[in-house]
Amino acid sequence: MKKPLRVMKFGGTSVGDAACIQRVAKIAKDASKDGPIVIVVSAMSGVTNRLIEAATRSEAGEREEANSIFSTLRKQHEAALAALISNEEKRRWMAARLEKIFREGEELCKGTAMLHELTARTLDAVSSLGERLSAPMVAGALVELGVRSEPVESTELIVTDAYHGGADPVMERTREKSQTRLHSLLESGVTPVVTGFIGATDDGVLTTLGRGGSDYSATILGAALDADEVIIWTDVDGVLTADPRLVPDARTIPEISYREASELAYFGAKVLHPKTLRAVSQAGVPVWIRNSFAPEQTGTKITPKGRSNGGGVKALTAIRDVALITVGGPGIVGAPDVVGRTFSTTAQVKANILLISQSSSQNDICLIVAAADAKRTVEALRKEFAQDVAHEKVEHITVNPSIAIVAVVGENMRGTPGISGRTFSCLGRRDVNIIAIAQGSSESTISFVVSEKDMKTALQATHAEFGLSAARSARESKVKVS
Ligand code: ADP
Ligand code: ASP
Ligand code: MG
Repeated sequence: MKKPLRVMKFGGTSVGDAACIQRVAKIAKDASKDGPIVIVVSAMSGVTNRLIEAATRSEAGEREEANSIFSTLRKQHEAALAALISNEEKRRWMAARLEKIFREGEELCKGTAMLHELTARTLDAVSSLGERLSAPMVAGALVELGVRSEPVESTELIVTDAYHGGADPVMERTREKSQTRLHSLLESGVTPVVTGFIGATDDGVLTTLGRGGSDYSATILGAALDADEVIIWTDVDGVLTADPRLVPDARTIPEISYREASELAYFGAKVLHPKTLRAVSQAGVPVWIRNSFAPEQTGTKITPKGRSNGGGVKALTAIRDVALITVGGPGIVGAPDVVGRTFSTTAQVKANILLISQSSSQNDICLIVAAADAKRTVEALRKEFAQDVAHEKVEHITVNPSIAIVAVVGENMRGTPGISGRTFSCLGRRDVNIIAIAQGSSESTISFVVSEKDMKTALQATHAEFGLSAARSARESKVKVS
């Protein structure tokens, strides 16, 4: 029987230093005994943030600061390399390879500083350096353990559109390229270590898939290679009932559906990039979330249908990097053009709208946009409605950045009466004021807007109300059975 092909992605904390990389190499070595694997890696934890800072500092003309970031990054990578590669000649050869990548970054920043201009294309080129540095180190660590391995730059594999900073794959071309390149490596017994986060247009211009995009790289490759499984290794035991940093008694969910996991990711659960499951939705490849620091844990299995818990709440999430924009005034009631113009304006400025709610009694249209989009959206709306404001048809266009969206997620919740009622009464008991609500026709999410200061209370109250801390984790259910 053919052995299963698995794609394994290791996130930033999983490759955070030499000891972590060694742990990853051990996991990969053990897994490679059961069948071929393709590894996808992120940059070492924190590196992408620092690279982006170097690029923006350069744009502001702050050359010294950018140089000092590069020198810190060099030290960090050199230290890891020294601990990982025992053979001196090999180490020197690898250090020269990494040095070339650092020089490329410095040149890009130098150009940016001279022009005082940071294009989306240059930002992609600089922010991608972290993965290009980590992949050779992980491959080197595997070779140290006696596993034949080679780093592969995903510009050779993943073909994308030209949308810098959030590119999408062109699947047919990606399939052709990935199959040719990776199958030949796998057939010759080599484990490829692919740079996550990165793609390239058909003309070879580097793009990135968006922050946190290595998860997406893994499923894109999983789909392109017809893999049997994708395993996303991170620093928590799986998908939890809430972000453990905000709800300490959050538990691991043993199995969850594509839909539920996507809703959680869309509303801010950082454990998964929001587009991750898109790539595998047609093929139905199972995606696992597992802990590279506790590989003995089973983790969470994400499958097309998930496992029903009878239609109740499965998990909660919150997103705080958002702003509430309100377009309000008496002229809004019965004026369809206001709604139309509002959304064509937000579309023109490419604002990412996460939630919409309209209150007819207060004559308000509320939109929640990503914080990064708030300024330009409000400016565009004020311009669009300048005349209406002058004639008091539209009274105000305001923005409130101190808010958060909380989402309650579970498949088929709409068919279970009382969930919204319980959610809102438990929040009322804790004096949490609800600013806006959206349930829509989605059967799997109720989302509401609260003041940012109330976000944690809202999460903890709802978590307790639906007994989510009592939900048995994969680990506990295993113990119970045995
Ligand atoms: P990686 O570097 O491996 O990609 P991330 O930091 O991007 O890891 O994602 C993992 C983090 O996501 C966890 O450490 C946790 O704090 C956060 N997180 C937020 N919501 C959830 C959730 N519902 N389940 C698990 N982790 C979550
Ligand atoms: N290194 C990239 C980031 O920090 C991609 C990833 O980690 O998934 O956004
Ligand atoms: Mg991530």
